[in-house]
Amino acid sequence: MLDSIYPGNLPAGADAYLAYPDGAWPTAAAVKAKFPGKHVLVLSVFARDVSEGYDREPLDVDVTELAAAIKRSMAAGIWRPVCYASAANMTACMAALRQAAIPLNAVRLLTAHYGAGQHICGPHTCGLVVLDMDGTQWRDNAPGVGGSLVDESVLLDDFFGAQPAPVRSPTIPVPVEEPDMIIFNVDQKSVPPGAPWPGTFLLAADATLHHITSPADLASYQAAGLKEETFSFAEYLARGGVPGVPVRVP
Ligand SMILES: [Zn+2]
Repeated sequence: MLDSIYPGNLPAGADAYLAYPDGAWPTAAAVKAKFPGKHVLVLSVFARDVSEGYDREPLDVDVTELAAAIKRSMAAGIWRPVCYASAANMTACMAALRQAAIPLNAVRLLTAHYGAGQHICGPHTCGLVVLDMDGTQWRDNAPGVGGSLVDESVLLDDFFGAQPAPVRSPTIPVPVEEPDMIIFNVDQKSVPPGAPWPGTFLLAADATLHHITSPADLASYQAAGLKEETFSFAEYLARGGVPGVPVRVP
């Protein structure tokens, strides 16, 4: 599945395309017109819309609005609405869905995780999430038209399939089963004079740090029961932190 904010950059031949009906880059109409007969996954950036799915990114659908939006879409008859988020944000999304009593096999979970090769995020691939995802946008540099670069996702074969949904136990505890995933707080007192406080991170199972940029996401991780620990500035540096440079998410 390919996507781009510029529909003209999308080459023919993909199994599916991802597009948006709204927001800053409303590409859905153009992509559908360009690739008749192909699956076009249409994700909304606004929680107020009934949609095939939602883009849970900073500035788009907030995690606190996500579950309500998914419920509205399910009630409107949308089959397994898609929750799309960075791998680092997906744990909070799953926690929000479960808190709203939405079974995780009633939705399709689509992550973005660049820099780890072609894979679908899961406990046995990258380890950034504790459940196998339905698909992952794994690179943002797939070849597009005229030397352009487009985003590419790998999807399960049944991503656009009909019901019944694959079995995914809704009772699996999402975060507590992941002892290696913790909230990594940099001790403010250990920051040398003149250096900015780096902030709070998710320390993932693969030992990478992911900046937690919104208070709502931090609250979700805390509500989901992730352990929170404080580390020194030196430990932050030792784990690849660069003061003043936000860690890339995902
Ligand atoms: Zn991954």
